[in-house]
Amino acid sequence: MCGIVAYIGKQQAYPLIIDGLKKLEYRGYDSTGVAILEQGISVFKKKGKVQDLENFINTETKNTNGTLGMGHTRWATHGEPNDKNAHPHTSGNQELAIIHNGIIENYTTLKKALIELGHSFKSDTDTEVLIHLIEEVQLKHNLHIEEAVKKALQKVVGAYAIVVIDKKSPDIIIGARNSSPLVFGLGQDEYFLGSDASPIIKHTNKVIYLNDEDVISINRNGDYNISNLKNKTVSHQIKELDLKIEELEKDGFDHFMLKEIYQQPATIAQSMKGRLNASEGWAVLGGMKQHINRISKSKRIIMMACGTSWHSALVGEYLFEEIARIPTEVEYASEFRYRNPIIKEDDFVIALSQSGETADTLAAIEIAKEKGAFVYGIVNVVGSSIARITDSGSYIHAGPEIGVASTKAFTSQISIITLMALYLGHERGMISESDYRELLSELEVVPKRVEQILKKNDHIKYIASEIKSAANALYLGRGYNFPVALEGALKLKEISYIHAEGYPAAEMKHGPIALIDMYMPVIVIATNQSAYEKIVSNIQEVKARKGIVIAIINEDDTIIREMADFFIEIPSIAEPLTPLLSVIPLQLLSYHIALMRGCNVDQPRNLAKSVTVE
Ligand code: GLU
Repeated sequence: MCGIVAYIGKQQAYPLIIDGLKKLEYRGYDSTGVAILEQGISVFKKKGKVQDLENFINTETKNTNGTLGMGHTRWATHGEPNDKNAHPHTSGNQELAIIHNGIIENYTTLKKALIELGHSFKSDTDTEVLIHLIEEVQLKHNLHIEEAVKKALQKVVGAYAIVVIDKKSPDIIIGARNSSPLVFGLGQDEYFLGSDASPIIKHTNKVIYLNDEDVISINRNGDYNISNLKNKTVSHQIKELDLKIEELEKDGFDHFMLKEIYQQPATIAQSMKGRLNASEGWAVLGGMKQHINRISKSKRIIMMACGTSWHSALVGEYLFEEIARIPTEVEYASEFRYRNPIIKEDDFVIALSQSGETADTLAAIEIAKEKGAFVYGIVNVVGSSIARITDSGSYIHAGPEIGVASTKAFTSQISIITLMALYLGHERGMISESDYRELLSELEVVPKRVEQILKKNDHIKYIASEIKSAANALYLGRGYNFPVALEGALKLKEISYIHAEGYPAAEMKHGPIALIDMYMPVIVIATNQSAYEKIVSNIQEVKARKGIVIAIINEDDTIIREMADFFIEIPSIAEPLTPLLSVIPLQLLSYHIALMRGCNVDQPRNLAKSVTVE
């Protein structure tokens, strides 16, 4: 959450920063701001999106000249989204400015002390307190800005990625991180800092990922120094990124979400590339192979995640228990970290996060590691914090996911988990050779099956038009399709603001059935062969109460298609692989409903991607 970008070099900073902020907007869009350091520091900031700031600057014909600057796109944590709370924030003497991603947890104590020292504040943010603290420390001890930042940060509790500029040091930018991501980009006579590589990649593919407690000072002449808060120099390797700028564009689609839904045949195939060969009969993940002895002896699997990744993990519970026969527990990372979890050295902990930066998941990993468990990361963003702190892991290789509602990351996470379960089940001798081979063959053709489902887009759009005005919706599924019901409901809530609930189909009788009337769409994922009759009964129960049934059925289904008000066919597939297909129509349904209700599909209200705050 919150996107930050900074530039120092020979070009005009403002257009580069605006361009970078547009790439980072998925991280927050409550307000936008830019600071340029030329003779002094000029700050331009506005509530709303990057475009709103640009319009403001153009109509007011502001002078944005300067070759050093920084920009911020905000997802508010402290203080409502308005002009005054927008970043950058400045010090009392206007000589320092800061942009920040994260939360300064002890900001009330710090603020009180600073007020007693005579500081006054213009915003309600925690961030403004930090820049006043840096100012206080700098003036009191007569320090260079780099030293002042380090000294001030020693007093701070919380999460931050910050960039600080100082009028007195017009050739230097300072960056620092703790629990929020910060990437340093090294170009030709120009240098960047960013929350991720997206605002940087157009200019250079050479980056350094900063670690917690790193402070970087970058000089215009290219000298840079990275040290920790205690002034000890730390060395870092420069990495070459393999990210293409086209991957950050909409590619002719109206929205990133639609592009990402349509990318799924390719992204699922990419996630399995080099990891599965059905004709030779193997599934292997490099990250597991190195540790397979330890992993296959695990007594328990614990999967930790948040949001959509938590739904992927729930699919994992079914897969690992059925195929690898290892007891599996799925945890909300945010809950796990604040109780006293029982973790043993023979536990295999799997952490899932699209961004690899989810604050709660990062904290949960630390706890699992402290207790001696082996932690495996499943992330999308290469070089992200989770990828770096876990013992091993697999990238899902889905490419940048920019739509705030996750789609392609979900299916790629599931394809990785399926490969893991198959690999582990085979190693442990828990799956018969014929079942193993059959699942491998079916998994290999999933991308083609997804393509077939995407061809039903027009039909799904028609169904969306029939239910778009609903105030509530219910999603039901059994077994492997229960997590898909949760994910379908989440997609609808996130982007259309329709209240939706996902339930295991059999649970309907224990409460939610009371909600059903003629206005309630009930989306039933009815592809399970194993509990088919039970699902037929569940649908009858909904129909008896006049609910509107939208059923996701197998192509060869003959019964439910007659009973449902609307149905969407998907190709038949082995049950453990169903989630990879059954979620696709639900993604499209939410997309169309949201669009028909006039919602901003890619940037839904109150949300942002990459949840780097607790
Ligand atoms: N705490 C800061 C604010 O509310 C930054 C928020 C964030 O990084 O999400 O402005």
